Amino acid sequence: MFESVAKTLLRECETKTRLMSFYIDCDRSKRSAKEILIDLKNLQKKAIEEGANFYADTRYSERISSIFNDLGEKLVHGGLGEAKGIACFADLEGDYYRFIELPVSVENLVKFSDHPFLAPLIEALYPHRLTLVAVVEARRATFYRVFASAIDKLLTLEEDVPPKVKSAGWYGLEETRIKRHVEDHVKRHLKNVAATLRALYDDDDYSLVLIGGNANYALVVADLVGEILADTPVEVCSKLGITDQVRIILEAVTDHAIKSFVESSSKLVQSIITEYEKGGLAIAGLRGVIRASNLYAIHQLVIDEYRMIGGKRCGSCGALGVDEDACPLCHGAMEVVDDLIDLLVCRTLRNDGDVIVIGGQSPLREYDGIGASLRFAI
Ligand SMILES: [Zn+2]
Repeated sequence: MFESVAKTLLRECETKTRLMSFYIDCDRSKRSAKEILIDLKNLQKKAIEEGANFYADTRYSERISSIFNDLGEKLVHGGLGEAKGIACFADLEGDYYRFIELPVSVENLVKFSDHPFLAPLIEALYPHRLTLVAVVEARRATFYRVFASAIDKLLTLEEDVPPKVKSAGWYGLEETRIKRHVEDHVKRHLKNVAATLRALYDDDDYSLVLIGGNANYALVVADLVGEILADTPVEVCSKLGITDQVRIILEAVTDHAIKSFVESSSKLVQSIITEYEKGGLAIAGLRGVIRASNLYAIHQLVIDEYRMIGGKRCGSCGALGVDEDACPLCHGAMEVVDDLIDLLVCRTLRNDGDVIVIGGQSPLREYDGIGASLRFAI
């Protein structure tokens, strides 16, 4: 899901050369709308100043202001759902701009470039998957579609299971038969929940099914659905109890996503280091990764913590370098660039590679905080 967000963005920005990227924190559980609007004003001021410096031209200030004002309006009128951060990418020469809602807080920043600045977006969105969620109760189940901070309620399934207490009088059955009757109803209900999940699953490109609500019923449904959906993980989310509050559901799903990401990314880092040390299909360290990028060999680029590192870029073929004077590929002259990592991220995505920004320190620290798995040996 994240991959398609990043790739769509790159495609949309492909022909645009004067781009503004900015990120703003808008976690309304921590700060008031007023405080966020003040931050937005400050960032707007900074954007106008830096934009004028970067392009040695003040003619973009009106355009920059109108984009910030639009975002301010959206924030005031609650148009951004449960987002805790916003990423914006805008073409200063045309009409194009786009806001992307982020499920986590971000650092406020603005950057001007000929391509979108994606590292914070990747860090914020990568762990999240398009998830089909079910909250299962004894007589009811509610289904949601969740991606990052966006949540849609799909439907509620209501079952006519008689409450145990009332059923005695209604059915005139003996106690044990009543109990069995109720349990049969619950069983039938849970089978219906599983069948509904199966049907909803086909409506979209889900990569995870999460089941919460009553813990015992969730386990039964997970078992039933897990048997049918062999290719997609079906998991019980113990943090997701019985609730219909979207904020609580989002928190549980986000928490689950981040925990899984911490696990999978640390495995990936470990496998890259092991593979690299034995001379396999992986590389670690800035110089090696740059070389791999120039050879179009990167499959998955892994950065533990994004930070700006200066470097070089070939003026004719675009190859990257650390400190070379001549291009390693075409011997053209190398120009100084202020953000090598950003260029590497963009280049990897454009070459159909995958980029992961962990957002914290990892064993890759020993290798400049960067590594990659490779498509072929270099
Ligand atoms: Zn070159």
